[in-house]
Amino acid sequence: MTAPNALTIWVHNILGITVQTTPFTPTNCPYSISTPSLTFGAGEEMAALNLAASQYNLTIISGGQTSIGYNGYMSGAGHGALGPTYGMAADNVLEMEVVTPSGEILTVNECQNQDLFWALRGGGGSTFGVITRTTIAAFPSVPLHTLTLQFGTPFPYSDTYWSAAAAFFSSYPSFASNYHLAGYGTFSPNTSISISANQTGNFGGFAGVFLLPAVSPSNTTTSLEQAILPIVEEIQSSYPGLFISTNTSATYPSFYDWWITSNGPDWGGIDLMVGSRLLDAEALSGNLTALKEAMMGATTTTMGQAGLMVDFVSGVGVWDAKPRGGGNSVNPAWRRAVVHCTNGATWPYAPSSPSALTERTTQQNLLTNTYVQALRTLAPNMGAYVNEADVNEPDFQKAFWGTNYERLVEIKRSFEGSVIV
Ligand SMILES: Cc1cc2nc3c(=O)[nH]c(=O)nc-3n(C[C@H](O)[C@H](O)[C@H](O)COP(=O)(O)OP(=O)(O)OC[C@H]3O[C@@H](n4cnc5c(N)ncnc54)[C@H](O)[C@@H]3O)c2cc1C
Repeated sequence: MTAPNALTIWVHNILGITVQTTPFTPTNCPYSISTPSLTFGAGEEMAALNLAASQYNLTIISGGQTSIGYNGYMSGAGHGALGPTYGMAADNVLEMEVVTPSGEILTVNECQNQDLFWALRGGGGSTFGVITRTTIAAFPSVPLHTLTLQFGTPFPYSDTYWSAAAAFFSSYPSFASNYHLAGYGTFSPNTSISISANQTGNFGGFAGVFLLPAVSPSNTTTSLEQAILPIVEEIQSSYPGLFISTNTSATYPSFYDWWITSNGPDWGGIDLMVGSRLLDAEALSGNLTALKEAMMGATTTTMGQAGLMVDFVSGVGVWDAKPRGGGNSVNPAWRRAVVHCTNGATWPYAPSSPSALTERTTQQNLLTNTYVQALRTLAPNMGAYVNEADVNEPDFQKAFWGTNYERLVEIKRSFEGSVIV
């Protein structure tokens, strides 16, 4: 719980993971669900769960960073590179055990305590009770194709760079609809990098990885290249002066092999204030000039600050997800989103230094009122991801939960002892 004066419960010692390769029968349901599954305790984290799944040649919806608690991640929705294929973490929960504020221990699933089952999958961590046990669906492990891409111009940014960046970004809806890709990238601010032996200096540009799980025979390294390379060639010819570097596809034997290489084994968090905006196809492809202006507004040019980070983690799997029990409380904006953008701002960490605190306030204000605001203006009818959001997100009820908010409040009020914030 991150609210001031709140009760904190240490769940890290509530451990244990069971992998079930036979169908799962939710408690008191007259039928089984035909899927492998993982059942785990409240304190289980991303690394242990991914490892356990991989030992059975299975894979799970997983975010980055090894020490993220799965229940905190899933409670806010839980995005990951397999989202465009299988949906969000909250879309793949089969059952939970919860201790309510009045001390009752409830098992929630599609056959009993359905309101709580709905609310706990997307309504936000710590809001309705303590989840002590969770069962999630798992999927057969398949190889993962990857392609890395970098392009940019020397700093300061030229109009060429911004036009090329917007043209590239506007292709994401087609990557999502036509190819079911996932990926992570950053439109970086002023960064010092070495492009080649004779090109070193301050550059601004895009750097990212695109991912394609081999869930069907047509998902090959060639199909991944066919998705990305034509637009890369197009921006190269339309915007001379860009440097572009593409490392064509590498294949990892499984999602886990890629994930552990990219995230582990012991990466921790970083001191970063973040803000989020979910962008739909209309925001990305509807008006190229508006997109370019939003990208310019959302990207700091200050050396050392984070740029516009693009988590390409939505798509068909999220849009068409069929959460058990007929639905869940994940922000409906996710069902229209193509990308989840985050902005970050950092400050010199020195709690007792007045100048550091002033700088932190300056950066927080820039984040809220300039960087994230540029994306809110671009996509006013979308929303933000509660787990990676601006703490000052305006109209947060609508931004984080949209039309689900009223029902979530009702369910929360029905639990004695809970406090509405
Ligand atoms: C480096 C980094 C990378 C990230 N990458 C991703 C990513 O790829 N995808 C993504 O979706 N998110 C990502 N996140 C965001 C992440 O989902 C959130 O930080 C999330 O809140 C982490 O949950 P936690 O349980 O580890 O944290 P905590 O702060 O401990 O918990 C978050 C909230 O959930 C509540 N909670 C935790 N456990 C329980 C429980 N058992 N029962 C009830 N409530 C509980 C807590 O009280 C708190 O309110 C990332 C975060 C970091 C720092």
